[in-house]
Parts: sequence; structure tokens; C-alpha cells
Amino acid sequence: MRIAILEDDLAQAGALESLLAGDGHQVHVFTRGRALLASLAVDSYDLLILDWGLPDLSGMEVLATARPWLKGRTPVLFLTQRDAEADVVLALEGGADDYITKPPREREFLSRVRALGRRAAVAPADAQTFVAGPFLIDVARQRIERDGVPVPLTRREFDVAVLFCRNVGKVLSRAHILEAVWGRGDCSTTRTVDTHVSRLRAALGLSADSGVRLTPVYGYGYRLDVAGSDRP
Ligand code: CA
Repeated sequence: MRIAILEDDLAQAGALESLLAGDGHQVHVFTRGRALLASLAVDSYDLLILDWGLPDLSGMEVLATARPWLKGRTPVLFLTQRDAEADVVLALEGGADDYITKPPREREFLSRVRALGRRAAVAPADAQTFVAGPFLIDVARQRIERDGVPVPLTRREFDVAVLFCRNVGKVLSRAHILEAVWGRGDCSTTRTVDTHVSRLRAALGLSADSGVRLTPVYGYGYRLDVAGSDRP
């Protein structure tokens, strides 16, 4: 998963980053609430991990600002020293999906992160075959069928299609798509993403009248919409 961590303690942030990276996640660290909010205006993540006490905005203020944009499609985990029941309740009622007190127990922390990812995605990252709208996806065999008919795609086109199909209804930023499909060190640009998206539109027959479409979101990225599957 692509995970944003909001944590002003650099040692703590570094420890979390290596723990999560070791479990196969791509981690982006923010040390100020405003910096994370600025990123969320143009970029998407699979999960947000928020500290409570920060020098500028509190984690709760960040959550209150970001929640309406995220529309419940990006899970939020609080990781904080505050362990009073009233704080846990405040965070959960304010829209957090889970709450862990510091220091986290490593295996429990990683399994909660995975559980949040499973709940948020249409298909968990480890599901090898799944359905999204008219598509049947077989990840291991790199095969995608539309209404029972296989659609030939290149490896990268297939990977982009799988990413969208796992995230039906969620806007994915170009940087998110680039990182998830091409990897962080790759020198492809967001233009590469646009090219692949337009080829996918043609290959998969994505258009408004087909009930499945890839909607561009100006200055941000794309969202796969499937008629009749409006998840909360
Ligand atoms: Ca802090």
C-alpha cells in the first residue's frame, strides 16, 4: 500500500517507515499537518497514519479537514501517546478507522494496517482473482476478461487496470498510479500514466454508455466508475 504517515518525531517516523517498508509498503512521511493537507489536495494514498500532537495542526484537525474529501475511501489510523478512553472515542467518532497507542506492538500494528487496507479496497491486495463491474481479473495469470471475453493488454496496461479495479470509485492521483505500477525509482513521468489510461479506455471499452468509465479529475488523476457500484 501507499501510506502517508504524519509524525513530527523523526526517530519515530523513521522506525515506522522501515517497519512498513519491510512489509512491502511505500511510505511517505510528513512532519506537519499542513504539509499533509497540501499533499492530500493533489495526491492520493491507500492509508493515512496520524499522530495526534504536532507543532501546527493536531491530527484531529487534519482528520476533520481531510475526512470530507476522502469520503471514507481512504482509511485513517491514529497512532498516538494519548490513551484516555475519551481521546479514543473522540478520534473514532471523528472518522478515524482505528486507534493504536504508542509504542505500537510491531506485529499487531502491521496486521491492523493490512486489515484496514483489506476493508478499504474492492479486492484486497493479495486477492488473485476478483470481479469489478463487468471485469473478471486473474492476477497470477495476468488475464482480464470483460463479460467473459479476454482483453489483450501489455504488462503495464494490465497493472494499471488491476489498480483501478481494486479501487473502484476512488480517485487515484497520477503520482499514486506511477508509484504503484512503475515503482518509486522509475523515471517514467505522469505523461506515461496518461498514455496508459487512454490506451486502457480504448482496450477495455470504457465509456459512459458502457456503464464503466475512467473519469479524469482535473489536476489530480483518475477514478474508475462502475454504474451501480457506489460504495459508501
Ligand atoms: Ca507528536
